[in-house]
Amino acid sequence: MACKQFDRAANILQMDTKLRQRVKLPKRCMAVSCPVQLDNGEVVIYEGFRVQHHLTMGPTKGGLRFHPKVDLGEVAALAMWMSWKCALVGLPYGGAKGGISVDPQKLSLSELEHLSRRYMQEMIPFVGPNTDVMAPDMGTNEQVMAWMMDTYSNHIGSSVHAIVTGKPVGIGGSQGRREATGHGVAYLTKSYMKDLGIKPSEATVVIQGFGNVGSEAAIAFNNFGMKVIGISDVSGAYYNKNGIDIKAALQHTAKNLTLEGWKEAESITNAELLELKCDALVPAALEQVINKENAAKIQCRILAEAANGPTTNSADTTLSKRDDVTTIPDILCNSGGVIVSYFEWVQDLQSTFWTREEVIQKLYKVLDRAKQQTEEQKTKLKVSRREAALTLGIHRVAEAKRIRGLFP
Ligand code: NAD
Repeated sequence: MACKQFDRAANILQMDTKLRQRVKLPKRCMAVSCPVQLDNGEVVIYEGFRVQHHLTMGPTKGGLRFHPKVDLGEVAALAMWMSWKCALVGLPYGGAKGGISVDPQKLSLSELEHLSRRYMQEMIPFVGPNTDVMAPDMGTNEQVMAWMMDTYSNHIGSSVHAIVTGKPVGIGGSQGRREATGHGVAYLTKSYMKDLGIKPSEATVVIQGFGNVGSEAAIAFNNFGMKVIGISDVSGAYYNKNGIDIKAALQHTAKNLTLEGWKEAESITNAELLELKCDALVPAALEQVINKENAAKIQCRILAEAANGPTTNSADTTLSKRDDVTTIPDILCNSGGVIVSYFEWVQDLQSTFWTREEVIQKLYKVLDRAKQQTEEQKTKLKVSRREAALTLGIHRVAEAKRIRGLFP
């Protein structure tokens, strides 16, 4: 998917053939074995990966995913998308992504800590605050980032806050980082609703995935006055036409890990959830959930891609023929996370810290600018919104490579 998207964008840009492969292929791909002794004494080897897509504009930046389906191909695609995302929103970063093939919910806290620390230990020769900076993604969180920072800092011999972002505030994390991705998704969705003449007070939202991004987006949608009528997670989907009580759902997941057993809404399937009639549909879980089976059937006015790669290329073709659906492409829609990660990195490097209000106002400014530039590019090139966002990001990376030249 990522390669095909790149090829399409490079064709639109009529990119020089000498530059294409340099822009497309990753700089560095690592695969490591992480042996961990489980609580029962057994030793299990987990496979870990990290892909650094390019180092042309600064260090690489990208999340770390713990999920059973993680493999090198998925991580490479996610790293590539991070490159276009960072360039689109104007951050001095290349893209990266990492992951471990594991179900973190099956590990005890101490097993999770050992695995996280072992992964960072294996990555130490390849990462650093000026080389590659990790952040949370699916299956990882602030605690995992704290262990990563501690492991790296022990190796260096002093506290290196800027080695990861998405850390707890008490150890150099940024105000507003935890909610940044979801909040940014809700903010951009509200902005596109305004363009379409949809009033927030009358708007309905459906969200797939109730983890960091999905739940924070739900809170922000509520705060913007919108009604969230459907939520879901790995355990199933839940619908209430009068609006779901998000605070109560969060209390339920805090106690039970998932939404399983949630009784305050009608239980439906994840497939049904995606086809609910609503103003905004927010996939905030896995890739490829909007595909050729359901692309013609989704009934939203706005498809806000909070997850990375939630829409397959064939679904994209179907959706591009439907003028009733406005798609906010992933590299724009979920960019709030990496924008505030960048703010966290800058604050760590300078040892000076901003208030939440300052962080959120700066976030809005960057999102507004990226949205405006995407819309201008869409009009100028007469392409889809996804192609507009991709061509902007890809062109900036290609230009940086061209200007720096080819080191002999
Ligand atoms: P998370 O692990 O906190 O939450 C993932 C959620 O998806 C959980 O509620 C899980 O139960 C649910 N889920 C898993 N499988 C599912 C399925 N088959 N059907 C429905 N729900 C399912 O992860 P997250 O950090 O919220 O990330 C979600 C997405 O957002 C990912 O695509 C990630 O790459 C993307 N993203 C995250 C960030 C970030 O800052 N965390 C930034 C940008 C993009």
